[in-house]
Amino acid sequence: MAHFHRLPGPIADIWSWQHRGACRDRDSSQFFHPDGERGASRGRRELAAKRVCEQCPVRAQCAAYALATREPYGVWGGFTEHERLQLIREGWAGELDLRGLEERLSEPSR
Ligand code: SF4
Repeated sequence: MAHFHRLPGPIADIWSWQHRGACRDRDSSQFFHPDGERGASRGRRELAAKRVCEQCPVRAQCAAYALATREPYGVWGGFTEHERLQLIREGWAGELDLRGLEERLSEPSR
């Protein structure tokens, strides 16, 4: 017997959160680094993007999506690509507790 409950929902349902993102009408270059960007300018751009994410009504969905799909580039859900890699290395397992994720990132490296 088929396990229909395991099938993904309609595509529009999966992606509909993106229409409510606070970044929707913003320049995507605020969230994705240009070639060769490093150091302070990268830090400033990422901080500005994270401030937008802090106010976003779909931040939890965005963060979960980026972590689950191993999104390699950009700031998603308020997490930089480096922060997402750190969360994945530390065993992120699908939780949507953003405060918990942020606290894990602020802990000293083990
Ligand atoms: S959390 Fe950030 S990157 Fe994600 S939709 Fe909202 S503003 Fe955009």
